[in-house]
Amino acid sequence: MSLLEVTDLRVSFPTPDGVVRAVRGVSFEVDRGRTLGIVGESGSGKSVTTQTLMRLTPGARVSGSALFEGADLLTLGDRAMRALRGAEIGMIFQDPLSSLHPLYKVGRQIEEMVRAHDRGASRTQARKRAVEMLGLVGIPQPARRADEYPHQFSGGMRQRAMIAMALALNPKLIIADEPTTALDATVQAQILDLMRRLQGEFDTALIMITHDLGVIADMADDVLVMYGGRPAERGGRRSAYYRQHHPYTKGLLESVPSAAGGRRRLKPIPGQPPSLINLPSGCVFHPRCPYVMDRCRTEDPPLAPVADDPAHVSACWLPDEALGRGDDAEALRR
Ligand code: SF4
Ligand code: MG
Repeated sequence: MSLLEVTDLRVSFPTPDGVVRAVRGVSFEVDRGRTLGIVGESGSGKSVTTQTLMRLTPGARVSGSALFEGADLLTLGDRAMRALRGAEIGMIFQDPLSSLHPLYKVGRQIEEMVRAHDRGASRTQARKRAVEMLGLVGIPQPARRADEYPHQFSGGMRQRAMIAMALALNPKLIIADEPTTALDATVQAQILDLMRRLQGEFDTALIMITHDLGVIADMADDVLVMYGGRPAERGGRRSAYYRQHHPYTKGLLESVPSAAGGRRRLKPIPGQPPSLINLPSGCVFHPRCPYVMDRCRTEDPPLAPVADDPAHVSACWLPDEALGRGDDAEALRR
């Protein structure tokens, strides 16, 4: 049994304009020490997927199952869920200012979290833990900086503080939603390195959500590509990068700016993501797909194994190897 097993997750939101079908049939597994990258444009359902697991989507209609160590996160009681959040499953968001309280000192916030989950911890112990965690994530003079407020930290330092907070209770799983999107490239690389190192040290499972396939090029063991609320392609990192089958995955790869070899390539995918209220018929990607065929407009392709790799599945009518080997993926190595 994997640490987290999500099966056929479906999430929709009733609105006055119609039902928003945000997630339609997503399945994946994550184990300790492993990283799953969930990739897609905004509106692909990647954030809604993990927010639903954390029960942060009030008003949503949800079906499927999400077993965390055998307990279904989708039906767990509120109390059990509160105990799990932070202690067993940590979260890191794109904008730490929205998660760090502006009126409390950074160290104090980590202390409060430690004490909320570990009632046996004294104030002194919690303080010690907070300073230790701030030091671990590379905040200089952590004992002094612990007494500063979030606005006194730079963007990169705030993100480090968020990581410290997420790791303070040694959770089994961390969900990071666009953790480096707001940061410049150098700081982004440092934060990703840090996350990779700490993940190894703590043997944490990591779900990394991003719109940038480049971010997880060196990090993810497995990749789930989402489009219009559906999985487009899922597989080990090597299959997703080097043997990609779905034209959307190929499009994402080509839209990644890469500094490798001094080359920069940036070919955005033309068109817009679909309306989740009025989904296109057939393959949801067909209005934007350069490979579109007649049947794509009427028949929705199921997720099916690609070639001889049972762990690699794709929802596209094209034959295996139709896109060739993804040599372009080399350009992603940074
Ligand atoms: Fe493109 Fe057709 Fe494949 Fe959809 S099924 S991704 S439209 S080729
Ligand atoms: Mg998002």
